[in-house]
Amino acid sequence: MTVHFPFQNTYSALPANFFARVAPTPVAAPRLIKLNRALAVQLGLDPDVLDTPEGAEILAGKRLPDGADPIAMAYAGHQFGHFVPQLGDGRAILLGEVIDREGIRRDIQLKGSGPTPFSRRGDGRAALGPVLREYIVSEAMFALGIPTTRSLAAVTSGERVQRETMLPGAVLTRVASSHIRVGTFQFFAARGDTDGVRRLADHVIARHYPDIAGAERPYHALLERVVARQADLVARWLLVGFIHGVMNTDNCSVSGETIDYGPCAFMDDYNPAQVFSSIDEMGRYAYANQPQIALWNLTRLAECLLPLFSDDKDKAIEQAQFVLGEFAGTFTAAYQAGLRSKVGLFTVQDSDEALIQDLLDAMAKNNADFTLTFRRLGDAAGSADDDSVRAQFTDPAAFDEWAVRWRKRLADEPQSAAERQAAMRAVNPLFIPRNHRVEAVIQAAMNRDDYAPFEELITVLSKPFEDQPKYAAYADPPLPDQRVLQTFCGT
Ligand code: AMP
Ligand code: MG
Repeated sequence: MTVHFPFQNTYSALPANFFARVAPTPVAAPRLIKLNRALAVQLGLDPDVLDTPEGAEILAGKRLPDGADPIAMAYAGHQFGHFVPQLGDGRAILLGEVIDREGIRRDIQLKGSGPTPFSRRGDGRAALGPVLREYIVSEAMFALGIPTTRSLAAVTSGERVQRETMLPGAVLTRVASSHIRVGTFQFFAARGDTDGVRRLADHVIARHYPDIAGAERPYHALLERVVARQADLVARWLLVGFIHGVMNTDNCSVSGETIDYGPCAFMDDYNPAQVFSSIDEMGRYAYANQPQIALWNLTRLAECLLPLFSDDKDKAIEQAQFVLGEFAGTFTAAYQAGLRSKVGLFTVQDSDEALIQDLLDAMAKNNADFTLTFRRLGDAAGSADDDSVRAQFTDPAAFDEWAVRWRKRLADEPQSAAERQAAMRAVNPLFIPRNHRVEAVIQAAMNRDDYAPFEELITVLSKPFEDQPKYAAYADPPLPDQRVLQTFCGT
C-alpha cells in the first residue's frame, strides 16, 4: 500500500546548500504509541490510514509516503553563547510541507529518524523519554494557547539507543509552521553568503509574513515582525511559568513558535531564578532571563540581515538597533497586560505594575505555587473566600496584606465578582505539565511499557482551564519527595 500525503514542498526547491537530501534510516520494529488524530485531520491526513502498520512505518521513517522529498535542513547557531557555524538537522528529517485546513503551510518532520550529513558524532536517534516529554509539553502549550510546534505521533522503534545507559528508541513526528530558525540565517551569514540570506529572507516573508512582501523595506519589516512575535512568545511563557531551557539561536523559530522541547519545564514554586536544565550550569536560560535572551538571539538575527538593510554598514546597524529597540516595549506591554488579566484587572492604572510586582515578590518569598496561586486568586475574586489562595503561601499573612490592596483596586471597576472570576479562570490554567507527572509518565512507559499514564496526562492537559474534578490530583504540586529538580535533554 502506498500512503499519499498531499505534499506541496517549497523548502526543498531552494538552492542545494540549504539542505541535504537524505532518507530516514529504517528501524527494526515500529510501534505506534500515540497518534494525534485531531491534528492529522487538521493537516488533511487520514488518521485511519496512519493508524495501521503501514502508517506506523511511515511515522517511524521506515516507509516514505508518496510525494515526500526528505531533507535535513542546514543551520548554524549560538549554543550557550558560543557560535557553531554548522549544526543542522542531525536527527531530524523533513518529509515535506502540507497546506492545512486553515490554509497554513505546515512542515511534517520526523525527529529521531536516523543520521544525516549534519549528525556530527550523534546517532541521529531519539530516546523514548524525550519524545514523550516533547509530545506532552508541546501539546500542553497548544492547549494553553501558546504558539508552538505540534506533535502528530510518537512511535517506538524497537531498537535501543546508547545514551548514558541503553534506552528504548523512539521517533516523534513534529509539525511546525516552519523549522526555520535564527540559526538558519546565521548559517548563510557566517559564510558571507548574502544571496543565501536574501533567498531565505524572501522565503520566510512569503511563508510567514506575506503582507510585508510589498513593503517599501521588506527586510526591516521582517526583523520587526520576528521581534514582535518573539517578544509576545516570551511574555506568554513567563505568564504560565514555562522555562524553555535551551534558548540557543538554533532553537529560536522565526515564525514565533516555541520549538525544540528539550530540558524544558514548568516551574512549581515561583522563583525568577529557576533553572531545571542539567546543562544550563550558569543559569543563562533561567526563567526570568528569557526576555533578555530572546533579545540577544534577535540581535544575532539582525546581524545576519545587515547587508540587506543598507550598503552603508553604520546606517544598517543604526536601523537594526532601532528595530531591536522595539522589543522591550512590545514584551513589557504583553507581559504587563497578561499579568493584569491574571490578577483580574479589566482596566489600567499607574499603580498596577507595583501592585502586581508586590504579589510576585510575596510569592517568591513564600514558595507559592505559581499556577495555583493565580488559579485560586480567581476563586477568591469570585467568593471572597481566601483560604485556598492563602494556603499557597508559607506565611499566609503575606497574602492577606496584599489582598487588602488588591480588593481596594478591584472596587474601582464595575465588573461583578462572577464576571471577574470567569475572566480569571480563562487565563489562569489549573493544569500544567508538572515535572513530576511528566517524569512518572516516562518511567511507566520505559519500565512497564505502560502508556495509560501518558494517555491520561494528555487528556487532562488538553483542557487546562477546566476544573475536571475526576483529575483534580493532577493540579497538585509535587510532594517533597516527588520534586524533580533537574531535567535532561537526553540527546
Ligand atoms: P538540540 O539540542 O536538539 O537543539 O540539538 C542541537 C544540535 O545537535 C542539532 O544540530 C541537532 O541536530 C544535533 N543533535 C542532537 N541530538 C542528536 C543526535 N542524537 N544525533 C545527531 N545529532 C543530534
Ligand atoms: Mg535544536
